[in-house]
Amino acid sequence: MARRKIVAGNWKMNMTPSQAVELCATLKDLVKNNKVDVVYCVPAIDIVPVVKAVKGTRVKVGAENFYIEDKGAYTGEISAPMLKDAGVEYVIIGHSERREYFKEDDAFLNKKVKKAFEAGLTPILCCGESLEQREMGVTMDWIRLQIKSDLYGVPAEQVAKMVIAYEPIWAIGTGKTATTEQAEEVCKGIRACIKEMYDAATAKSVRIQYGGSVSASNAAELFAQPDIDGGLVGGASLKADFGKIVNYDK
Ligand code: PEP
Repeated sequence: MARRKIVAGNWKMNMTPSQAVELCATLKDLVKNNKVDVVYCVPAIDIVPVVKAVKGTRVKVGAENFYIEDKGAYTGEISAPMLKDAGVEYVIIGHSERREYFKEDDAFLNKKVKKAFEAGLTPILCCGESLEQREMGVTMDWIRLQIKSDLYGVPAEQVAKMVIAYEPIWAIGTGKTATTEQAEEVCKGIRACIKEMYDAATAKSVRIQYGGSVSASNAAELFAQPDIDGGLVGGASLKADFGKIVNYDK
């Protein structure tokens, strides 16, 4: 069976609850594409109003973060079961901003992937190289290390259902997109890595997104690549252009 495309917006630390509801209303008629799964990954405080705002549409809600324990004395944190109960279906794990600013390492991210599945959430696991690593020629070595560490001990049937987002750090929020060839090369390499770690069926089933300055003008070419199953979209997910990205095939 062909993989369904998945386009997810990563709102980051943008949109107050009332702005979030307004954005959902703006996007409502623009993000209709039966061939594409659409996800809004929103700040924790926006989850409840956004779940309500997208009710009755095909849009799914994702979280940007959670903590690895189910409950307890972790002031300020939110757990995976809390997200699930609030109506969240997807969660971003391992975004480069969390790796860099909040020092989340691969051992911690591996726990997050396992906890997400345990709670019934689908991880969108991010990986990606720095500009320095690309220039040194170690891109694929680095990404393979991230994938192998973050998925350590995660069973094939879970990996088959998850989403991996390839996001070169130098392309995030910079307006610099990886060329279509660069993006496809790494997404194909990630699929090969999954095949090596698991089997051909798992590699064929896992969905791999590209992220990094995806826009209305480059989405069609990127998403047409054989190993790119959609995109993780930052800046452009906060405006009407997101509808054009979702409808990249029109
Ligand atoms: C992101 O943060 O996941 C991202 C890809 O951002 P942008 O689209 O703004 O580059």
